[in-house]
Amino acid sequence: MVLDMDESAAALLRADDLARHCGYAASARREQRFPPLEGGRVCDVAVVGGGLAGLSAAIELADRGFTVTLLEARDVGSGASGRNGGQALPGLACEPRLIEAQLGLEAARIVWDAGIEALDLIHRRCERFAIDCEWRSGHLLTAVNTRRARRLRATADDLQRYGDAPRFIGAAEIGDWIASPRFVAALHDARAGHLQPLKYTLGLARAATSLGVTIHERSAVVRIVAGPRPRLQTPSGWLDAGRVLLAGNAYLQGIAPQLERRIMPVATYMAATEPLPEALATSLVPSGAAVCDNNFVLDYFRVSADRRLLFGGGDSVGTAMPRGAKEMLGRRITRVFPQLQRTRIESVWGGYVDLTLNLAPDFGRLSARGDGANVYYVQGFSGHGLALTGLAGRIVAEAMAGDATRFDTFARLQHRSFPGGARFRSAALQLGLAWYRLRDALAA
Ligand SMILES: Cc1cc2nc3c(=O)[nH]c(=O)nc-3n(C[C@H](O)[C@H](O)[C@H](O)COP(=O)(O)OP(=O)(O)OC[C@H]3O[C@@H](n4cnc5c(N)ncnc54)[C@H](O)[C@@H]3O)c2cc1C
Repeated sequence: MVLDMDESAAALLRADDLARHCGYAASARREQRFPPLEGGRVCDVAVVGGGLAGLSAAIELADRGFTVTLLEARDVGSGASGRNGGQALPGLACEPRLIEAQLGLEAARIVWDAGIEALDLIHRRCERFAIDCEWRSGHLLTAVNTRRARRLRATADDLQRYGDAPRFIGAAEIGDWIASPRFVAALHDARAGHLQPLKYTLGLARAATSLGVTIHERSAVVRIVAGPRPRLQTPSGWLDAGRVLLAGNAYLQGIAPQLERRIMPVATYMAATEPLPEALATSLVPSGAAVCDNNFVLDYFRVSADRRLLFGGGDSVGTAMPRGAKEMLGRRITRVFPQLQRTRIESVWGGYVDLTLNLAPDFGRLSARGDGANVYYVQGFSGHGLALTGLAGRIVAEAMAGDATRFDTFARLQHRSFPGGARFRSAALQLGLAWYRLRDALAA
């Protein structure tokens, strides 16, 4: 691949720098700017975090008659939501059988159905609020060898128990679906799809304000003072609320250490190529579906509306990939599509995924009763949050409005803190990732 940039991984990951690096920024205009919080304010519900989870909750809460103020440390969409792969997938990052093992079949069905509703919610919101985010239907979950293909079959069998029947594509057919020598099988899901995530996130911000939600950017919450009406402090103001939602994801910045211990920020990187000639762009994935493989350290990619290949992959803990994100992505792209050997990469960026130890989402309240019971949180989408965050916002709003059935079902999922405490958990996860990379390599 032709590579002509030289930026450190740390710079690619910086949340402040989204507009500079991220391939989405050029085609998603920020029509709204929101002033920082100044002085003291009160509201029914305070939302921390202007990503898809926080914005979705704000919309659902406003719909239920709450007054809502959302505080965002940087710009709306500057976290994972405005820079992700754009793949809107059903379900969760973990296998359904993990949910079933923990909660039983009935509750696992509630969780699985919520993941399907999450896709529907995207369409409803785009329609209701006239959000143009370049939606395209279809998703292929691919396998790179026969062992992985057996795992795909097992996934398909599992899904059938939940009334789901993605189409299995075997070796004889796979060439019709993707012009790559790398894959031997795939599952096709027609309900899933892909979109331009920064456009969608900014569209949700516009929708929230149209419903009366107040948004403050450049308003990092630096402290939460617990109580019957928790107080959130920012550098230039404070906000008293009846209830609080923490939706800061991997970017939460130390205000709730008990939550942050349960997720690990893992960096993943994306590249956008130059626009491809139309015939080449169409030939890569003729159905127009988004694609990701079923390795642990996976490749995920799609062709955008402006005919660029958007390709993500790789992982690192913290900023532990000081050089080579673009070379790494260039190698991975040509491994999948050797025909792109001479294609130029125009932009490279990265972001943090909020991984939980078991890859299941982590929802709950800071404490079961007393101070903290009015502080809710949603996190741990584990790289699978584009659709699920929307649903998370809805079920938090349901809970705050008095029906916590679905919220409490999710909250029953058990989570453990990453081993090693604050000081050593990065090292522990590096070891873990090395193990998974080795497993991927051995299975190749
Ligand atoms: C490169 C990349 C590719 C991905 N690809 C996909 C994909 O293809 N499909 C998929 O389903 N998922 C994908 N994901 C994951 C997905 O983007 C996330 O799960 C989802 O966006 C999480 O949304 P969120 O609202 O929880 O978090 P975020 O979008 O990260 O938002 C959290 C916000 O909270 C703010 N914040 C944090 N702390 C504070 C504070 N103290 N005060 C005020 N504000 C604060 C942050 O600034 C941030 O804007 C990807 C992620 C990355 C990084």
